[in-house]
Amino acid sequence: MTKQKQPKAKKELALKKDIRTIVRFFKFIGTFDKGCLPLMIVTAVVQAVTPFIGVFVPKLIIDEMLGAQRASYFIALVLGAAAVNSIFTVLGSWLLSRSRGKCLEIQEKCRIYLGNRVMARDYEDMEDPNLLDEKNKAALPMLQGGIWQMAAQFSGLLGCILTMAGLIAVILTLNLFIIVLILLMVLLNIFLYQKSRNIQYETEKKTEVINREVAYFENLCGDFSVGKDIRLYGIRDLILDKIGRCMQKVRSFVEHDWKLSSALDGTTRANSQLQIALVYAYMTYKVFVGAIGIGDFTMYVSAANSFSNTLSNFFGNLIYFLQLVHKMDAFLDFVQIHPKKKLEGKSTQGIRDCEIQFKDVSFRYPRSKEYVLRHVSVTIHPGEKLSVVGLNGAGKTTFIKLLTRMYDPDEGEILINGVNIQEYGYQEYLKLLAVVFQDFKTLAFTIRENIALEESGSADPAKILDAIERAGLKEKVESLPKGIDTSLYKIFDEDGIEFSGGQNQKLAIARAIYKDAPIVVLDEPTAALDPISEFEIYSHFNRLIGDKTTIYISHRLSSCRFCDRIIVFSGGQIVQDGSHDELVSQTGSQYEQMYHTQAKYYV
Ligand code: ADP
Repeated sequence: MTKQKQPKAKKELALKKDIRTIVRFFKFIGTFDKGCLPLMIVTAVVQAVTPFIGVFVPKLIIDEMLGAQRASYFIALVLGAAAVNSIFTVLGSWLLSRSRGKCLEIQEKCRIYLGNRVMARDYEDMEDPNLLDEKNKAALPMLQGGIWQMAAQFSGLLGCILTMAGLIAVILTLNLFIIVLILLMVLLNIFLYQKSRNIQYETEKKTEVINREVAYFENLCGDFSVGKDIRLYGIRDLILDKIGRCMQKVRSFVEHDWKLSSALDGTTRANSQLQIALVYAYMTYKVFVGAIGIGDFTMYVSAANSFSNTLSNFFGNLIYFLQLVHKMDAFLDFVQIHPKKKLEGKSTQGIRDCEIQFKDVSFRYPRSKEYVLRHVSVTIHPGEKLSVVGLNGAGKTTFIKLLTRMYDPDEGEILINGVNIQEYGYQEYLKLLAVVFQDFKTLAFTIRENIALEESGSADPAKILDAIERAGLKEKVESLPKGIDTSLYKIFDEDGIEFSGGQNQKLAIARAIYKDAPIVVLDEPTAALDPISEFEIYSHFNRLIGDKTTIYISHRLSSCRFCDRIIVFSGGQIVQDGSHDELVSQTGSQYEQMYHTQAKYYV
């Protein structure tokens, strides 16, 4: 497969983007710890200095041996070099471990920050199929120690640049040609290395499909479900034959790859040898013509070798660093998206009685053409017990999703006590609502945390116990040795318990009771139960919830007979509104028909 060449303008744009990502990265981590970037720069400087000791000291020693041969100078030089070398090495290691520690701390903060950003995304974004992909891409550098790797690679590259600048200055005093020669050789080697990597990559891609085939056939060998067919029809030879042929294909690709990449690796090594030979030949020539002494010879050879190694490291690390930059770009893009939802707004403090008003509300889901709610207008009075009924898909849950501001209406408005709900601060607004959805989740936390949904220490135990009692879970919780501190599930705690479906529902209801919000919504958390149990739970809940505005959702009419008022949804519209007796007496109405169809199951 031929690789498409990137146009020059595109490459420049990519480079600009990479530089912007690097700047964005350091600015971002600077919000957690301002000291990280300066520390990485100091580390780079210290690392850059060390190679020069190996370049200059041998020259000075040789010059001294061939010249004045002063013992005291000689000793001072060796001890001094050893001391400076040790100091820089120790300092370098210390700086590295300090930076690593710092990066680890930043990494932890970034992971928490990422989790926070995911949860802060608008609920409607959660349904975007790309979101999961974006989130996984963003999480990747966090799982792979990306902060430390980025910072360390950056510092390493900076160190390489500083070292190279110094070495170039040294070599330039002799001849520019050496630098050009080394640069060309290193670039050639990098080009060959990239070619070899591309060949490997292509081979991996080609063999991936065949390896999947092999895995399929190998699985077949032990697959119990096809065991009978394998034996009765003698498929064994066919399978083994297919495996053999696949292996042969893989081998031919790999062998071809080895031949090519070995040839390239061999050329790379030969290049390096040639480069060394040329450098030595030139230096030796310079010594023979008397342009430099033996000490200079040692220094220049060492500087040239050091330059060549540093340059190779630089390019090798640059490729890796740019990969990290691209991964980090996905992370930075993700965490810097802010919810569209307006978070600031009016306070809801002190609101106890709530009048909810839907005014001509229409809504369709993002990426969907069909309106799910059409011109819905209804007023729910403070303290009212409202039942919302309708067939599955009629729009009942969507009605609640709009009330809870998971989505905003496309047309019309929703008001609480005359104020558009979007004008309230989002978190403030949520304090007004306690909702138990059909797909409520209990978490692998303690019972106490599952109900209070806050840190154990800040929850009010008396209030939790009261909610447990009112939800009908008291006996069960009292029978547990650790009481409300018992963990749900055994994921993190061997003593954790598994609640039954019904107990989980009670726990979810206890959560709503504990929240003590002025508006309570039960959106069929009891759907899995039989109609009679649902009716019992709903009517029991109704007794204990007192005078709060309460909305009960069900597709079973029997569950809501106790409600003051019932609204019937059909095709996204409210088609009936009244008490049970009123609605059932409207002959031919949807409610009357549903009631009589359903009645035979539970009357
Ligand atoms: P109900 O609660 O009455 O069973 P819903 O409000 O859940 O009904 O659904 C109403 C309609 O909206 C259904 O046709 C359903 O398929 C559609 N719907 C629900 N959720 C989504 C969604 N996230 N995206 C697109 N359509 C949805």
